[in-house]
Amino acid sequence: MSILNQYIDKFKDKISKKDNKIEFVRPQKEKMKYDAVNIDTNNTCNQRCRFCFTPFDEKPVNMDLDTFKAVLKVLPLVKDQAIGGFGFYFSCIYEPTINPLFIECLKLLPPIGKNKCFLTTNLARPMDEEFIKDILSSNIHLINISIESLNPKKFEEITKNNKFNHYKNNLDTLEKVINENNINIPNLRFITILLKENKDEIIDLVKYAYNHFPIESFEIRTPYIDYYENMGWNKEQFLSKKETDEIKSQLNGLDYHVDMCIQSFDELVEFENRDNVLNVDSDSYQSDVNNFEIVEAYEYLFLRINSDGTCVDKKNNVNEKISLENPEKFFKDKLFELYEYRAEVTACLDYDEKSQIFGEGFISVDKLSENDVYVELSGWCCPDRKININKLIIRLTGLNGDVKYYYSSTKERFDADKAKGKEKGWCGGFTTYIDKSKLKDNKYCIDLIYEYASNKNVLYRLENGILID
Ligand code: SF4
Repeated sequence: MSILNQYIDKFKDKISKKDNKIEFVRPQKEKMKYDAVNIDTNNTCNQRCRFCFTPFDEKPVNMDLDTFKAVLKVLPLVKDQAIGGFGFYFSCIYEPTINPLFIECLKLLPPIGKNKCFLTTNLARPMDEEFIKDILSSNIHLINISIESLNPKKFEEITKNNKFNHYKNNLDTLEKVINENNINIPNLRFITILLKENKDEIIDLVKYAYNHFPIESFEIRTPYIDYYENMGWNKEQFLSKKETDEIKSQLNGLDYHVDMCIQSFDELVEFENRDNVLNVDSDSYQSDVNNFEIVEAYEYLFLRINSDGTCVDKKNNVNEKISLENPEKFFKDKLFELYEYRAEVTACLDYDEKSQIFGEGFISVDKLSENDVYVELSGWCCPDRKININKLIIRLTGLNGDVKYYYSSTKERFDADKAKGKEKGWCGGFTTYIDKSKLKDNKYCIDLIYEYASNKNVLYRLENGILID
C-alpha cells in the first residue's frame, strides 16, 4: 500500500471513529473585488520633474466623458480602503487637473467615491477659488498634493516648471477656500520626494503644511528607481545613511505625524545586491512556481485604465478597449478571469510524492475564505525541526479519496518566530488558492508538505479540515 493510501485510510479511520475530533470549517464568503483600479484621464503633465519616471513619449489624449462614465462602472468592484483596498486612483502617473474635462469628471464621481477615490496633483496649473471649491466638494476621499520646495529657484530646478507663482498662489487659495467655506473637505496629504536639493528644507515643508492646512498626513519618499532613462539622476539623489538617519531623527522630534518611506544610498546598494543574489539562486521548483509568483504579486488584482479608453491587467499584459456598451459586464468578466487564472496556476498537476515523515508543527490559519472561484487559505507553520520553509506544496485529501496538490507562496514570519520563541526565519507563512470547480469531494483534510532533506519531505497536518458546499 502506498504512503498516500495509508494516509487516506488513516484519515478515514479518524473521521469514522472520532467524528468529534476533526472539525470541518466553512470558509468565510467574500465578494470578488479589484484591490485597486488606477486610471488617468489624460497622459501628460505641465511639469517635467527631474525624478519623474514617466517618459512622456505618447501622443497626448484626454479621456472623453462617455469613456469616463463607462469607467465609473468599475467603482462598485473596487475594494474599499476601510477593508484593505488601495482604492480607485482618479489620477495615477500624470497630472489630472490639466484635462479640460477635469472638473466635469470629478463631479460625476458618485457618493461611494468617498470610500475609495483619491487623486494626486502637483497644484501647478492656475486655479481660481471656484476651481478649488469644486475639487474640495467632490466625492473624493483623499487628495495628495506634491510639495518639493517653497524656494522658487529650487522649485523650478526640481520641477522644470518656471511658474512657481502659480503653485504658491494655488496653495494660498486652497488655504483661503478651506478657511472661508464650510465644506466637508476630503482628507489632504502632502508628499515630498527627498532629494539632495530639498533635504535642508524638509523640516520647514512639514511645518508649513501642518501649520496652514488640516492635513491627515505628510509623506516623504525617496525617488523611484526603475529602468527608465533618468534613473541615474534619481540614484545620485539618494543620501548617505548618516544623512537619512539625521533627517529621520529630526522628523521624529516634530509634533507632527510624518510617513517616511526613506531609503539611503547604502540601503539601496544593499537591496540591489540582494536582488542579484536571489535572481541567481533558482532551481526547477522555482521555475515551476514562476507563474504563481505573478498571481501573488502585490499589484495582481489591479486594473490600469489609460486615457484612450483601454485597460491592461497583469494576466494578459496587453491593452484592451473597454466596452462602452456594457462596461459592467466587461469589468466583471475581467475580474473573474483574474481570479480564475490565480486558481489555475496555483494547481500543481504533476506532483510526485517523495517519502514522507509526519511532523508535529504548530499551524495557525490567518485566513480561510471563499469567493465564486477559489478558496483562499493562508497562515503560518512553526515546524518541529529545521525545514526549508520556502519549498512547500499543500495537499488536500478528500473524504472520498480526491487528492489535489497546490503551490503556495511562502514568506518569513518574524512575528511568529517571536511568538514561538524561535530563531529568526524558523517559521514559514503560506498562502494558496484552491479552485472550487476542480474539487470532487466537499470535505477535505489539509497537509503542508515541506522539503526536509534531499529525498524526504516532512508533512504537517492542519487540525481542522475544510467544508466546501
Ligand atoms: S508632477 Fe508628477 S507626473 Fe508631472 S512631471 Fe512631476 S512627477 Fe511627473
